[in-house]
Amino acid sequence: MPSHSAPLPATDPPPLRRVTVLSGGVGGARFLQGLLHGLRSGLVPGGSADTEVTVVANTADDWWIHGLKVCPDLDTVMYTLGDGIDVDRGWGRRDETWSAKTELEAYGVEPTWFGLGDRDIATHLVRTQMLEAGFTLSQVTEALCRRWQPGVRLLPMSDDRVETHIAVADPDSPSGRRVVHFQEYWVRLRAEVAAESVLVVGQEAATPAPGVLEAIAETDLVVLPPSNPVVSVGTILGVPGLRDAVRTTSAPVVGLSPIVGGTHVRGMAAQVLASIGVEVSAAAVGAHYGARSAGGVLDAWLVDERDADQLSRLEDAGLRARAVPLMMTDHDATARMAAAAVDLVASGRR
Ligand code: GDP
Ligand code: CA
Repeated sequence: MPSHSAPLPATDPPPLRRVTVLSGGVGGARFLQGLLHGLRSGLVPGGSADTEVTVVANTADDWWIHGLKVCPDLDTVMYTLGDGIDVDRGWGRRDETWSAKTELEAYGVEPTWFGLGDRDIATHLVRTQMLEAGFTLSQVTEALCRRWQPGVRLLPMSDDRVETHIAVADPDSPSGRRVVHFQEYWVRLRAEVAAESVLVVGQEAATPAPGVLEAIAETDLVVLPPSNPVVSVGTILGVPGLRDAVRTTSAPVVGLSPIVGGTHVRGMAAQVLASIGVEVSAAAVGAHYGARSAGGVLDAWLVDERDADQLSRLEDAGLRARAVPLMMTDHDATARMAAAAVDLVASGRR
């Protein structure tokens, strides 16, 4: 039995041997850090240091730049859990230098707005070389993780090329709009212009990467962390076959709201939710995912304490819902969020 630092519930929780998490970048990675901490410290009911965590990561933020294949969400998870992340920035390598970027600028090579650090470039060089030698993205990710030892099995959602593009208003274009790659929207435009629509190029033809469907079918719990519901979790669920796998798994599915007090904590969830016509609230995002009993992907949904007034709306939508603190201020606070997610699911069984 794991040692429990939290009070034991009246009955022993069912053992949590395997957990599968559908993750974006920074929000997902921070949640995973807390989940692992909670499992190792016994804070998560039924969990232990032996609980196997599989991460299905979004790859729709990926792009090719200066001849390199860059996978921001995979790398953010890998560097964060492997202790190589720049903690303040939330992405990229710690103790980074930018000589290559400066040299490219001196040659006048565009785009100059995308940050490619020298240390980070080594990762992209390894990835690109391996892909060009014929390895799949799954195989490359496994190879990169051999160095970083993230403590989870990290799987890309798909080995196929899938890229999110965002349509924005452009008065200079004859159509009045322009479609930019997700990275251009986020990094160059800083998500400061309205997103008119989200196009996920290549998604319909993509297949889930090896192991992804099994990781969802053969697990004790599926978690949707507080990642972006449109351009992180939404793109993962949009890979053909993936949403059905989540709908039909015998494991419970629980999610945590990335929207707190009516907006995102960081990032651009508000902009992209607006573009798909979903109100920017914890309840609306829960209802957007939907209850599995009504054809959606969730059994249970955690919202922040500030959004407790939305619980009845979620219950009306068929979801088990609870309000707890959802700010990932440190590993302990995040571990308590993971524990609350497991407990919410377990409360439905008791
Ligand atoms: P990205 O790929 O780097 O954008 O990261 P994710 O998609 O995994 O996560 C982005 C989401 O994390 C944003 O929508 C934020 O609102 C959410 N987020 C970040 N920090 C927190 C936090 O402390 N609490 C909650 N509830 N959500 C957070
Ligand atoms: Ca991302």
